[in-house]
Amino acid sequence: MASSRPDSRQPRPKVSGRVAGIAVLACFVAGCVPGVPVPLSPGGGVVTSQLEGADRVAVAISASTQLSARGAVPVVYLVAANPDSEAAAAAPAAALEGGAILHAGATALAPAVATELARLAPDRVEIVGGTSTIGKAVVGQVSSLLGEGASVERIAGRTAPETAALLSAGLFAPSAPIAFVASADAYFDALVAASAAANVKAPLLLVTRDTLPSSTAAELRRLSPDRLIVVGGKSAVSEAVLAGLRTVVPVVEQISGSDRYSTAAAVATKLFAGAESVLATAGTADLGALAAIPLVAGVAPDGTPLLLTQPGEQLPVATRDALMALEPAFICIAGPLPPLIRGELIGYSDGRLGLPVETATYPALDSGWHEPGELYTVIKATEIAYPSLVSVFSIGKSAEGRDIWAAKISDNVSIDEDEPEVLVDALHHAAEHLGVEQALYLLNTLTSGYATDKEIRRLVDSREIWIIFAVNPDGWVYDISGGEYHWWRKSRQHNFNNPNLGVDLNRNYSYMWGCCGGSDSRVWAWNYRGPEPFSAPETRAVANFVAGRVVNGEQQIKTHVTLHSHGEMVLYPMSYTLQRLPSDMDPTDYSVFQAMARKMAATNGYKAQQSSQQYPTDGDEIDWMYATYRIFSFTFELYPTEEQAGKGIVYPSDDVIARQTARNRSALLYLIDAAACPYAAIGKAAQYCAAVAASPSG
Ligand SMILES: [Zn+2]
Repeated sequence: MASSRPDSRQPRPKVSGRVAGIAVLACFVAGCVPGVPVPLSPGGGVVTSQLEGADRVAVAISASTQLSARGAVPVVYLVAANPDSEAAAAAPAAALEGGAILHAGATALAPAVATELARLAPDRVEIVGGTSTIGKAVVGQVSSLLGEGASVERIAGRTAPETAALLSAGLFAPSAPIAFVASADAYFDALVAASAAANVKAPLLLVTRDTLPSSTAAELRRLSPDRLIVVGGKSAVSEAVLAGLRTVVPVVEQISGSDRYSTAAAVATKLFAGAESVLATAGTADLGALAAIPLVAGVAPDGTPLLLTQPGEQLPVATRDALMALEPAFICIAGPLPPLIRGELIGYSDGRLGLPVETATYPALDSGWHEPGELYTVIKATEIAYPSLVSVFSIGKSAEGRDIWAAKISDNVSIDEDEPEVLVDALHHAAEHLGVEQALYLLNTLTSGYATDKEIRRLVDSREIWIIFAVNPDGWVYDISGGEYHWWRKSRQHNFNNPNLGVDLNRNYSYMWGCCGGSDSRVWAWNYRGPEPFSAPETRAVANFVAGRVVNGEQQIKTHVTLHSHGEMVLYPMSYTLQRLPSDMDPTDYSVFQAMARKMAATNGYKAQQSSQQYPTDGDEIDWMYATYRIFSFTFELYPTEEQAGKGIVYPSDDVIARQTARNRSALLYLIDAAACPYAAIGKAAQYCAAVAASPSG
């Protein structure tokens, strides 16, 4: 439809140049974006605020509410409920005028929007887009909500680029220092450009991939900017359009990445390198990002660029890199994001994340596996997302100097409460990647389920759960280095006077070390036990950690599982001998081991048996755990079965991860529960655990 701007419209400010930002920044920090700031960093410098709301309409109302806390809101831009690039072009205009953006339906305002509009009582409402986007009935509704003398105008061209040109022409003065262009067909590019433009008080104009519309060219001639920034790659804005733009503006720069995430990151780092604040929002659907732009733009002196997140548990690499480069002190999160994404955002913003990233990557087809460099990020993000439940720490360093990361999970996690303790560890053997996924699955289950699952909450509240995610980080990194599998098992420690690297960490524990033919003394062997017990820093770290859990003479860890693959088995001591009841195995304890193993195997479909039934091993972890501390210690040999592995499934594809880790949920929860009194498995809680018998929930 044709442009239909009422003649009676009021004069607007024509602004070019900057306003001072420092005073406003203080306002920002003090609570211009209060929301529910979460002080996740005790004593730290980061300020995180959340624009709450279940959807973009509600988030926009949150933004306008916070904007109005700074003072009167003179204008509201009403844009489509499902915004496109035309709506994005309104953000720089709204930011320039100190206005808010709200969303309108095609035929009516949502009740909450109507209430907010009446509360704001702006002098002017600009309806962005034609009557097919926001109909005449809405104009009538808006007019009835506003006071005497307030005006309702419509800004609409026949196309989105025409509307953008009208928005620019109405507000931005000629001889602009800078202007922005994006494709009308790439919403998130346009959103990123709108955010950048709003931050520097510049207009956003639109093109299509293959066309430079005459309205856009004409408006650019009028603006005559010194510098034109095109946001988006060749697939969004063609060479021909770029050439056309160069005939209008002498200096045209294109900023783009391989996708929307890296495009946003490139704009942030190239144009806002000094930014101390960041706006973060979902990059798959607008969850309120557009309406948040006028709230944050121009407030911080070096700008508040927009960064995009993806679904799932991790940030896109480009977003992560941008956060590490910017190290922002303030972060505004627009709309609901998954907890781990929030945790990672906060972690990067205050420097708690950002370790050098391991370059080892899985083969491209197996990208669903967590890589060594992602492990710390995920567990740290979980700690930040659930600060009262999770504490991340390192139990020590590997031979090559990598941290061996662990987490404690419990209520009041910072306090060593007198609660039964459980230890879960994974990846003694480098190629047994599924163990890491199983450990991460448990961490996620205990944290994400805490609020809603009564059983999870009971266990987390009444136990202290320790997880060591990868005992052998060096071997893990080597096993996938170069993007291919190396069939590696051992650590990567140098052996004296021998070119063969590494030790079989699960033959390096001190109990019955090298006793019985269940390991090898030859350095090159796959099950080389090392030159002496605990010769490996990795096993020393595990042993020292477990020794540290002796409090007042009592080992606090009561149950343990070490995660290996494969075989689909639940194994229990002794490993070094085929005898069921050697002199170092208490007969009652043996009954407990059998009963617990059978209970767990009944839930996951594994086979329960004494470890040596598979093949005798000496110097292994579970014998040491039991013999040294009487811990009820098990090995889970995860998916697949021996038979499946024999048919070639040694490195399973990533599509098995979800099912094969969920499969052990009940078994792991049982092991955690059983820490209160393992003897309950044979009905002897009253005899062995008086306190537990009196209080069954532990
Ligand atoms: Zn193993």
